[in-house]
Amino acid sequence: MYVGRFAPSPTGPLHFGSLVAALAGWLDARAAEGRWLVRIEDLDAPRTLPGAADDILRTLDCLGLGWDGPVLYQSQRSANYKAALKSLDTYWCGCTRREIADSSIGRPSDGAQIYPGTCRGGLAPGKTPRALRVRTGTEEIVFADRVQGPQRQIVAREIGDFVLLRADGQFAYQLAVVVDDAEQGVTDVVRGADLLDSTPRQIYLQRLLGYATPRYLHVPAAVNAAGEKLSKQTGARPVDLARKSEELRRALRFLGQAGSDDLAHALKNWQPALIPARRVLVAVP
Ligand code: GLU
Repeated sequence: MYVGRFAPSPTGPLHFGSLVAALAGWLDARAAEGRWLVRIEDLDAPRTLPGAADDILRTLDCLGLGWDGPVLYQSQRSANYKAALKSLDTYWCGCTRREIADSSIGRPSDGAQIYPGTCRGGLAPGKTPRALRVRTGTEEIVFADRVQGPQRQIVAREIGDFVLLRADGQFAYQLAVVVDDAEQGVTDVVRGADLLDSTPRQIYLQRLLGYATPRYLHVPAAVNAAGEKLSKQTGARPVDLARKSEELRRALRFLGQAGSDDLAHALKNWQPALIPARRVLVAVP
C-alpha cells in the first residue's frame, strides 16, 4: 500500500514552491490509490510562524488536496526522536561554526563545508558540547530517484559526521524526518530537489535504525528569476485562493503536466515521467 506525505515547515503561508511539492505528492499518492499524510515540521520553534500551520492546512483543503488521518506535529514527538538517538553511535562536538569553517576542506562540487571530525575522539578540554553528531561510515549510498535518476554519495566524505541534536535540545531535521517517515509507514517521499542532497544522510540513518528505505521522487525546486529558491525570505507570494484554477494550472505546467488544468484531469493523466529532471526550475510568474 502506497503511503505518501507532505511535510511543510510552518514558516509562512503556502507559496508556489510548496504548492508544487504538495500537488505532485497528492497526485502520485491518489494515482496509486494510496494514502497521503500531512506532517507539520514545526521542530524549529524560532522559525515557526504562529498560525502558519493552520493557514497551510486551510489552503490545501481549499485547493482540493485532501489528506488522510490526523496531522502529525513534530513539536510533539521529541520522545520518539530521543528513543531513536539511543541506538545510534554519536558523540558531542564543541566546534563553533567558525571553527568548522576554518578547519573544513569544502566540498569540491559546491564548496559546502564538510565536518572534518575534530571532536570524534572526545571534546578538547575546556570546550562545551554544542551538537551531538552521528559517526558516518565510508560506504557509498546509492539510490535511484524516480525523476532525478541515479544518485550516489559517500556521506563520510561529502558531508562528514552530521548533527542530530543541538545542546539546546533542538532535534535536527535529518533525524526527525527519518523517524517520522518510518513510524508513519511512508513508502514514497515526494518533495523538492533542494532536499536531494539530504537523502543519502536519511538513507544512512534508516539503515542504522533498521528502517525500510522509501522510494524518492524529487521535483525541481522552484526558483525566482534571480535563481533564489522561493521562500518567505525571498519574497515568494502566498498561493492566491481567489485564483485557484490559475495557481493549479501553473503548478501542473511546472510539473510537465501541461495538458491538464484541473485536478481531476491531472489525476487521470498523471505522468511522473514528464516531470523535468532538473534540480531547479524558474517559476514563471
Ligand atoms: N519540511 C521540509 C520543507 O518544508 C520538507 C521536508 C521533507 O519533505 O522531507 O522544506
